[in-house]
Amino acid sequence: MIPLAALILSVAGVGGLAYTLGAHLIASAGIGTVHRGPARRRAVALTFDDGPDPIHTPRILDTLAPYHARATFFIVGERAQKHPEIVRAIAAGQHEVGNHTFTHPHLWLRSPRQTEREITQCADVVTALTGQAPRYFRPPWGKFNWAAYRHAARLGEMRVLWSLRAEGWLPTASPDAIVRTIIRRLHPGAIIDLHDGGGVSGTPARTAQALPQLLDALRAYGYQCLPLNELLVPESAQPRSLREKMWDWYERTWAALFGEEPVTDDGALAISLTRHRGRLVSLRDGTEIHPGDMIGELHFRRDHILRMHRELPPRKVGLVLRRELIQSLEALAALAAKDPRYQGLPAFHGLSLFWREARMLGLESGPLTNLWQRWSLGWYMRMLMARDHPLGRQRLEITFRDIGHVWISRTALLARYGRSSDMPAQ
Ligand SMILES: [Zn+2]
Repeated sequence: MIPLAALILSVAGVGGLAYTLGAHLIASAGIGTVHRGPARRRAVALTFDDGPDPIHTPRILDTLAPYHARATFFIVGERAQKHPEIVRAIAAGQHEVGNHTFTHPHLWLRSPRQTEREITQCADVVTALTGQAPRYFRPPWGKFNWAAYRHAARLGEMRVLWSLRAEGWLPTASPDAIVRTIIRRLHPGAIIDLHDGGGVSGTPARTAQALPQLLDALRAYGYQCLPLNELLVPESAQPRSLREKMWDWYERTWAALFGEEPVTDDGALAISLTRHRGRLVSLRDGTEIHPGDMIGELHFRRDHILRMHRELPPRKVGLVLRRELIQSLEALAALAAKDPRYQGLPAFHGLSLFWREARMLGLESGPLTNLWQRWSLGWYMRMLMARDHPLGRQRLEITFRDIGHVWISRTALLARYGRSSDMPAQ
């Protein structure tokens, strides 16, 4: 027979696990929580936790202002009560103020009632100081319990975690390392977790020190820093079917896996870095791409093409697409000239339905020869057309012959689409 005490303990144990770890696993899986923004433009959200701090927060605000960078501050209620003028300065700078509980406890050690009080009290402080109830909630250390998970939603606060952290824990990262890590893992829509107060000792100081260099680098890569309420604007106001949501999820995952980023905001092209697989390719200007060389891989952005088909009459799509491609190639030339990640690449490659037309834009192209690619891409393109094209399944007759390789060397790109200021010095 099981002793009653053991039975009670084990039931409590299971309940406790569901309350803490269960909520945490659900939240980490992105169910009901936000980890990143939409990937359609070059923008990120800098989020600062654990302030306000009388030394570091004003310094960070002063650094952000000349860059027109706006951020989100997840503040701790009792610290805000001690430094109300700093919270008002945050709001006055058009930054977002989020809820990070009243005393910053580990919520796994708090009962449902204590948890709810922590969240409500901080929300009240934010409302009193800024005139606006907080729209976002982040639990201390990113650890939810069930009470926090439910109560934040009840108050109308979106639960926000992050897609990128760089400050290090043990050991902590130097300012240089913080910048390097963020740039290496940068992606459109990134929510970056930083600290302007509390945390591991010295972290806010290192972060404040890293900030100018970080803002310079983000600017060089064409990234904007937006508060969460602007980063998280929904892609379109139209109601979307489950199928479209599945596709969005699939494409976001794909983009995150391959580090794809848009070449211009809302433009037709996205780019990622990849290794050339396949045989040696020789381009007209003598550029050779060997198997294993890093190249820039260009992708048509499906969300963009879908929107064009929705908004334009069919005969206009080709014309507008051509104009946009030229703009995208000009932007790509600027990236190839300035962005250290793309400066050393011999060439850019893409797979396209418009490979014949691409020749008019100065690209070299040819049909697919690899049988496996023919089959798999033909299938993929048919799926896309079935989804994206207003004629839907009537267009399913496209075959592998419609898909081809498109190439342009970095030299040819700069010569045709680069501005003179982008050209390498002689
Ligand atoms: Zn915190």
